[in-house]
Amino acid sequence: MPQDVDLVIVGAGPAGLMAAMWAAVYQLKTIIIDKRESRIVNGHADGLQSRTLEILHSFGFGDQIYKEASLMQEVCFWNPDSYGVIRRTDRIPDTIPGTSRFQQSVLHQGRIENYLFDFIERTSSEVSVMRPAKPLTIDVDESAIESEDAYPISVRVECLSHNQPNGTSSAQENAEVGENEIRCKYLIGCDGAHSWVGRQIGLVMEGEQTASIWGVMDVVPITDFPDIRMRCAVHSANSGSIMIIPRERGLVRLYIQLTDIRPARGERFDKSMGSPSLIFDAAKKILQPYSLSYDYLEWWTIYQIGQRVGNTYAKFDRIFLAGDAVHTHSPKAGQGMNVSMHDTYNIGWKLGAVLNKTAQRSILKTYESERRPIAQQLIEFDTKFSYMFSGRPAKDLADEAGISMEDFKATFQKGNDFTSGLSVRYGACKIVAQEHHKSASADPAIPKSVLQLGSRLPSFQVVCQCDATPIQLGDVLKSDGSWRLLVFPGDLRHEASMQRLKNLGERLDRSSPCGFPFLTENCVQPILIHASPRREIELFDLPKAFYCGSAAGNGGFDYYRIFADDESYHQGHGHAYENYGVDKERGLVVLVRPDQYTSWMGGLEDLAEAERLLSGILRR
Ligand SMILES: Cc1cc2nc3c(=O)[nH]c(=O)nc-3n(C[C@H](O)[C@H](O)[C@H](O)COP(=O)(O)OP(=O)(O)OC[C@H]3O[C@@H](n4cnc5c(N)ncnc54)[C@H](O)[C@@H]3O)c2cc1C
Repeated sequence: MPQDVDLVIVGAGPAGLMAAMWAAVYQLKTIIIDKRESRIVNGHADGLQSRTLEILHSFGFGDQIYKEASLMQEVCFWNPDSYGVIRRTDRIPDTIPGTSRFQQSVLHQGRIENYLFDFIERTSSEVSVMRPAKPLTIDVDESAIESEDAYPISVRVECLSHNQPNGTSSAQENAEVGENEIRCKYLIGCDGAHSWVGRQIGLVMEGEQTASIWGVMDVVPITDFPDIRMRCAVHSANSGSIMIIPRERGLVRLYIQLTDIRPARGERFDKSMGSPSLIFDAAKKILQPYSLSYDYLEWWTIYQIGQRVGNTYAKFDRIFLAGDAVHTHSPKAGQGMNVSMHDTYNIGWKLGAVLNKTAQRSILKTYESERRPIAQQLIEFDTKFSYMFSGRPAKDLADEAGISMEDFKATFQKGNDFTSGLSVRYGACKIVAQEHHKSASADPAIPKSVLQLGSRLPSFQVVCQCDATPIQLGDVLKSDGSWRLLVFPGDLRHEASMQRLKNLGERLDRSSPCGFPFLTENCVQPILIHASPRREIELFDLPKAFYCGSAAGNGGFDYYRIFADDESYHQGHGHAYENYGVDKERGLVVLVRPDQYTSWMGGLEDLAEAERLLSGILRR
């Protein structure tokens, strides 16, 4: 008998595990299939961007990772002087100051995956892992694709051996040897580069392999190079470049350009020709006159830069591809793991809501339309960045074949905005209102800078009305599947502002027959942020839509949805209105998606517009 599940995820890497986290949140019956015997314990990706940390924090454990990781505060640029000797020429902040609570940091992929596994285990018993196991075939019953309760996808899976639980495998990672048949409603291929799932649905990777070969080593270095605990971009005069990334436990990751190996364009480099000594000798040459050696090598690999994006991300809106399966690029900008997790952070909540029957199936189309352009931007950035980092530094202005180090720094700095993941802006679609929409552009009260349609809502400190605790607004926007209606009514000491809020409160009253229809079952959660001195406002003078209905379902009130943009006793003032650019006279309402991206903005009187937008997204 085939086993029926909601979701099959092929691949338990960062992309697959992020998808599984959403599956756990939505309590979807899910099987993850991975061909690896056990989890990875070292090496691979390590860079965690600000947006990724925000996302992990919204699941409740970003700050734990942040504490364990090595933070990257500054980047140093080392370039050859007129004698060809490398010198520090500049320093810049690694993350653009003021853009996020979390700065770029590094921790190896295995540790990060462990955090993701732990979350899945403690959140749901419906998600299980089969490993080592491989899918053999995928068949889709096309006649059942639009049928809500059907299991149109059949997957034959071969479990390769009995998993021997070791120190890093969880109790859920058990597989029975032999062939199994699984039927599922949806499938996500997160099976990395050269994706098997991709091949089954006719994926074509567009782009090309470059002739640039790089080695990667995780070592505890013994050196007199003074910036070894800084992120450094080092260009030598003639021996290539190194990126230095300080890591946890005294480790340092070195990305080392191997200028002596140059396969013909379009040809694949034979990795077996590489060795730690070959890579490390190249590193020593680049860092001269500084000395470099090591006693402890934790991990190494060698890779050829290929920049490719998949021509499609989905088939029948039943099978989806994510992560390295649909985009590959160089790892130096620390994007691989991040963008891969962001892909499934996007498709995960959409699938969860569709499978839980709270959202319409048509929203699944927005996965490809939102995520593929991001991969294209990434490849564009990576092509430029890799070219400049792999190029020989220009000797002077007349040296046109060389790379200007000023241009390299400018590209790096500009790229920081993109690589942080914070500047992603999804275009207008079914789940993001049109920019030219009356309430989103013509109204001068709608801020244009920080709050932008399709961008993630930044976090600023506010103070809880009920108990005076300062809190980051971002902490309220948890990844629990809820949409949020953030209401900024302005200063409620003004009668007009209070009246506007009361009118809105009536529309948000669940018991009212003409009320806003999407407040049931935690679909849309109203949140209030007023701009009055907290002590001059009484909580029970405010509309009960903002505190009625406890999240715990225990009959009590939910007091933690009303906040003041006010001074706190011990942590200063967050100036949320000022930072968001909200006019205290006119106020603002912001509809935020379950992934914290802004879906709609309008005045307090414009709720009908939000209702119209949600009518095309949610189910009543
Ligand atoms: C050897 C190596 C070194 C890397 N080094 C760096 C680095 O230094 N810095 C950096 O930023 N990025 C690096 N990357 C890239 C980074 O790890 C990826 O961008 C990121 O892990 C992508 O996540 P993913 O989940 O999409 O794919 P992956 O992490 O590749 O995960 C894919 C998963 O699918 C499983 N799988 C594959 N095929 C099948 C199949 N047919 N059936 C079942 N399971 C399957 C694999 O076992 C794996 O667990 C490296 C990747 C690799 C493979």
